[in-house]
Amino acid sequence: MVRPLPPILRAVWPAGAVDPPPDAQAAIDRAVEVLGRGGLVAIPTETVYGLAADALDAEAVAGIFRAKGRPATNPIIVHVADVAMARELAAAWPPAAAAIAARFWPGPVTVVVPRGPRIPDIVTAGGPTVALRCPDHRLARRLIAAAGVPLAAPSANRSEAVSPTTPHHVLESLGNRIDLILDGGPCRAGIESTVIDCTVSPPRILRPGPLSQAAIEAAVGESVARPEAAGSAGPARSPGQQPRHYAPRTPLDLRGDAAAHVAALLESGKRVGWLTSRTDDSEVRRLAASRSLVIVPMPAGSAEFASRLYATLHALDQRQLDRIVVDEPPVDEDWRAVRDRLTRAAASR
Ligand code: AMP
Ligand code: MG
Repeated sequence: MVRPLPPILRAVWPAGAVDPPPDAQAAIDRAVEVLGRGGLVAIPTETVYGLAADALDAEAVAGIFRAKGRPATNPIIVHVADVAMARELAAAWPPAAAAIAARFWPGPVTVVVPRGPRIPDIVTAGGPTVALRCPDHRLARRLIAAAGVPLAAPSANRSEAVSPTTPHHVLESLGNRIDLILDGGPCRAGIESTVIDCTVSPPRILRPGPLSQAAIEAAVGESVARPEAAGSAGPARSPGQQPRHYAPRTPLDLRGDAAAHVAALLESGKRVGWLTSRTDDSEVRRLAASRSLVIVPMPAGSAEFASRLYATLHALDQRQLDRIVVDEPPVDEDWRAVRDRLTRAAASR
């Protein structure tokens, strides 16, 4: 059976207004109804768009794995409306989780805690822990509250592809595999949440993200263990952190010598997209004359770069290029999350 494309329902309202206007409320009501019958709804968060299902309904969550083509070994983050809802889902609430939630929720940080009995096996890939987050997006929180259940929601894209930061990206990647898309505008942070394991001492960062290690250490009052570098050997501490992930269809090269690399690619007749912050460099200006090169000027700050990264990769993927080249980011704590995503995007197929 061929399913129709999902409707995209816009649900935004002015910052000053507490309650959504009737059209946004109708979109929320429709999403609640779809979730209630075990359906899949793409929702905006401040990080990326998520593909949501009722986290307490194992059948519904199985639908997420099918729609994404996600391996069953990769657990899913559960989204909650507030700390109280998180605590109901956890078997214990470690001090580090309490400190992080108090300081940063709603926000782009996920805590891994002991799993309570209400969470189905499929959500945690059978493991004894559950990952929880309260998103800093009022449409997402409204929806969770209205549904009255936590929402399991990984990024709303086919597995391993670039995460969506607009409803249009979701439609392109998942199309008729899902039931509904809520449009809450483009995502602010633009990369996935920081994930921190609070079941170990000291707590360990499993995935770098918008919140830095230093910010988390200040909140928990102790040093936390660093994430492992992308592509490092050894057993995965966090299931689902594959070396290749977040990748555009077009092969991507992360290069310290980007200008020379781009010049060589152009010389050999390739069509190239280049993400660079060095647009006033004379070498960049010289290469820009080539008709086979698309230069995308990127912001020099890591947060602004992150916010634009995925939308840029989605756009370049539409342009039939042979290669995407990205300047190697600074080796700097601020750039850790962006570097992690780019390293994974560049990992060989
Ligand atoms: P996403 O694909 O953005 O939903 O990311 C989910 C990621 O969070 C997974 O790939 C894991 O790395 C991590 N994660 C989710 N649940 C757990 C868990 N229970 N224990 C450890 N890591 C988890
Ligand atoms: Mg993902």
